[in-house]
This record gives sequence, structure tokens and C-alpha cells, in this order.
Amino acid sequence: MIGCAPLPLVALLLFAVAAPISCAKSESPVVAQDPVPAAKPQQEALPQDAPQPARIARPRLVVLFSVDQLASWVFEECKPHFAVDGGFRRLLDQGVWFSECAFAHACTETGPGHATIGTGAPALAHGIVKNEWYDRETKKKAYCSGDADAAALAAFPEGGKRSAARLLVPTLGDLLDRANPASKVVGVAHKDRSAILMAGARSDAVAWFENATGRFVTNAAWGSEPPKWLLDFNATARPQSFFGWNWDRFGPESAYEGLVDDRAFETPHYTTKARTLPCAVRGGGNAPSVAFFTEAYVSPISNQLVHECALAALRGEQLGKDEHADLLCVSFSALDTVGHYFGPDSVEARDVLLRIDRLLAEFLDALDREVGVGAYAFVLTADHGVGLPPEAAVAKGLGGGRALIHTQCRNAAEQALRAEFGGDASAPFVAHAGEYSLVLDRARVEAMRGERSAEDAFRRACEVAAAACSKANGVRRGFARHEVDGRVSDADPLIRSLAFAAHERAGDVLIVVEPYWLEPSLPASHGTPHDYDARVPLIAMGPMLQRGSVSKDAVTPGLGAVLAAWWFGLEKPAAAIDTLPQSAMAK
Ligand SMILES: [Zn+2]
Repeated sequence: MIGCAPLPLVALLLFAVAAPISCAKSESPVVAQDPVPAAKPQQEALPQDAPQPARIARPRLVVLFSVDQLASWVFEECKPHFAVDGGFRRLLDQGVWFSECAFAHACTETGPGHATIGTGAPALAHGIVKNEWYDRETKKKAYCSGDADAAALAAFPEGGKRSAARLLVPTLGDLLDRANPASKVVGVAHKDRSAILMAGARSDAVAWFENATGRFVTNAAWGSEPPKWLLDFNATARPQSFFGWNWDRFGPESAYEGLVDDRAFETPHYTTKARTLPCAVRGGGNAPSVAFFTEAYVSPISNQLVHECALAALRGEQLGKDEHADLLCVSFSALDTVGHYFGPDSVEARDVLLRIDRLLAEFLDALDREVGVGAYAFVLTADHGVGLPPEAAVAKGLGGGRALIHTQCRNAAEQALRAEFGGDASAPFVAHAGEYSLVLDRARVEAMRGERSAEDAFRRACEVAAAACSKANGVRRGFARHEVDGRVSDADPLIRSLAFAAHERAGDVLIVVEPYWLEPSLPASHGTPHDYDARVPLIAMGPMLQRGSVSKDAVTPGLGAVLAAWWFGLEKPAAAIDTLPQSAMAK
């Protein structure tokens, strides 16, 4: 399919033929009940005795590669089915798999995760606390990569209003550019936030896909002229070439064993209105349209396009071709969209991951050809994990359920605050409920404070609201943000993960749901501090790292930026919490 660059539509069907892979049945999901990973809050300089890449061949290119929503448990369930000549097998054989990698922060969403991959820092430091958060000043939601001042380019009128302005620390790419402006930094993803927050403000080029127009775009935040390779790529109308593509199972039958394709809670495919493969991807119409590009986003087509666009960037920017080291950031988004719509345990999600395995192999082959074997380093990780659909979790005896979490919490908090401070429903205390948080109307609380000081009243209001949330169905506990503030070294891993997310943008009350509890709106999702959301694989392949080894070190997905800084000969990013893993270094 979707796996090999420019192929006519008919030829794509041929790729449904199985690649040789193991037929071993996967084990049950690795889903721990205990929430939250161990975090490593300590700040350490790079060890002085670490082997310095100056003495070896420094990579000419580092690739930070994100597979959106690739949870550790999803990766480990699919691992027996990866092809012997696939990309994952190669990375595992030639790199180090950090099997205990997990986010330090509780806010396991796309914006925060990609910002961590790009900067090395947790959300507390990089400030991207959610995909969007409530801004007290404007009384509106702020989008993590939104920027009203970012101008569109004439070539891409739809590309404006996005930048890395909300990121509070530099990305690794920013640091590389400062150290050597001749180095190139490029980001490519389907989602704007993924490309922008990984690569950063000082990148040479950042491109993302617009479903509204069916093309990869950029804007004036990254230069007054669009890169030629981007214009050339769009001129091929590659996305349109997939119109009518038939999405069928890519792997052999055994790779889908035990998965049920048609489940009542899945979202039907847009064109076929069925919940099963095969399905034609047409956006329900007779010609490419917004609906088609949107359906393509929830299909393997999305990753294929990002793969091809990233290779166009690699060649167009001549990455890894000279003595100035370059950085390429890539994110595949389709495992996330498909996981949300059909569940991470669906036939569709398994199929997307098997295709990613093939795409990765092709991507690495292209790097071999364009940059040279051994001349680049590659770090694969994910922006967050995902939970089983509650219905599937219940069936496995893991508990879970659905509830209007935020509505319940808002109502319970409102009622409790009125009982504590007085007033009536005409003037609410809760300004915003969403993203597992509440934002209180501080002016309202202060107006009703009575004999209390303004500060005391507000702290009390947060605690009252948090306690009310704790009683809501499906909620483990609400925390006033000030209760967890600063506790990044706490003995309780749940407190630590909340503390690593407790930037003031995160809201006044932080809500932690019980495992596998979800709003009714999506079949499956993420965003909690639980292991299934926090644990993601990280596989690093490059100079001075062991080959074919597994490290049990407790690292975060920010390790990629730390490793890249070391490969580039830069200081460790100041807000990064990972340290160079001695256990993974080649002896
Ligand atoms: Zn994501």
C-alpha cells in the first residue's frame, strides 16, 4: 500500500500481501493498575566520564520520531506481529529499547507530549499543559500551538494563526540553531501541534496537513517564503491520489487474532457507515473533499502522506548532507485518530500499526541511502498512550465505565461552593470545566469571601471544589492545584505526576479519573496519569548506544532530546529531567 512511495492506486492493493512475520499469539495487555510512572526529578549534568561523541563519528542527522498514541501496552501486544524486516524489528535489533519509559507529567495529551519530546522537559516546565486550556485573561480557550499573530503566507492562506509561541522553553531544535545557525531543523506531521511543538520556533521549516484543503502547509513564523520542496510536494496532489483507496487488512490473518472488528461502541467509517474493514475511503462523496481528507486522517493514508512529505523535506533540505548536524522531527498521527474512533484494541488500530512497521523500515532505508548507514541517529517514542475502551476494559475484568465526568464535577463543585460561600446559580463559581480540570472564577470567590483574606478564600474554594469532584462517579480524586504544587519528588507517584503538570495554566482543580473511566463522546482516549496513558516505548539507535539491548531505566520521552543534545555536543536542555543513561551506553 501505503508503504511504498509513488504507486498507482491499483498497485496499492498488492501490498495487502503479508510480510513474513511471527505467528506467535500476543500476550494479554500489559496494563498495570497502579497509576503513574516513577519520575526522575533530579537535575544532573551530563556525566563527565560519558564517552563523548567528539571522539566518534558524530551523527550528521538526528531524527526524533513520534507515533501518536503508541502506548507501551499496545506496542508490546503488537510486538510479536512486527515483520522480521520491519522498522520496529530493526530499531529493536540495532538500538536500545527503554521498556519502562513513561511521561513524568499527568497531562497525557498530544500537545504536552510532543512538547516534551521536542524540549526534553515535562509540562510543568514547557507550559503546554493540555491541547487547549482556559485562559483567565481572555476567558477563552487557548490552543497549545495557536497564535493569533502568526501570519499566513500567500501560498497557504489556511496556514496562519499557529506557532510555538506558547512553548515556555526552547526545543532541542532551537538550541541547535542557536549553537550553529548552519544546522537545519525541520518538523513534519499531520497535526500542526505535533510538528510545531517538537521542532520549535527557530526551525528552518515546519509543515503540517490541513484537512480543509488537503495539503501540507506552513506559515510566516518559519520564513517569508515557503520551502520549494513543500510547494513541489503539494503540486503532486498526492493526497488526492488516495481518493477511493480501499483500506483492507495489511498483515496476515494471525496478526489480527483475538481482535473483534465490529463492536457496538466503535465509530463507523465515514464512507461505508460500517465499523469494519475493508472500507473504501471517499469521504462519502464522488471526489476529494474536506470529508475525504478528514476520513483519510482516520486511516493509514495520513501516515503515508506524512512519511512521503518528511522524505521530501529530508531531500529538499539536504538534511545530514554536510558537516553541520541537522534535526528532523516527524510525527505519525493516524494511530491516534484510529485509536480514538475504533479503540486501540481494534482491527483498524492493529492494521495501522502493522503499516507503520513497514513505513518505518522504508524511512530507515531512505535514511541509509540519503544520509548513510551509521551517519544518523534515530529516536522513536510517543506523545502519550491510551486506555482500552471502557466496555472492553470491563469485559476483561479491569473495571471502568462512562460518565459525564466534567458536567458532574462542575455541578458538584458549584453546589459545594454555594454551600460554603453562599450565592445562587445565577453567578457561578466555576468558570470552566474540561481537560480533567476546573478553573474557578477568582473574582466571584473573592467577592463572596466574607471575613477571609482573598488568598485564603481562594485556596479554600479550590479545596472545596476538589473534594466535591472526588465524589463524582468515575472520579478517583480531585486535587486543588496548590495541594500538589512543588511536590515533584513526593513519595506518591500520583502526586509527582500531577506536580509535573501543575503549571498555573493547568487550572485550579486537577481531576484524576478511575482507570478506564471516560466521557461518552469517544470510544477510547487518554489524558490521565494512569500507566496505560503514561507509559510509551522509547527506542534509541545511534552512536555510542548499545545495539539490541533493553534498558529498564525509568526514563521519560524527553530522553530523546537529551540524547540528541549529547550527540550534537550541546549542553543538556536546561529543563530536561532525564540524564544520559549509563546502562544503555556501548561498552
Ligand atoms: Zn496524541
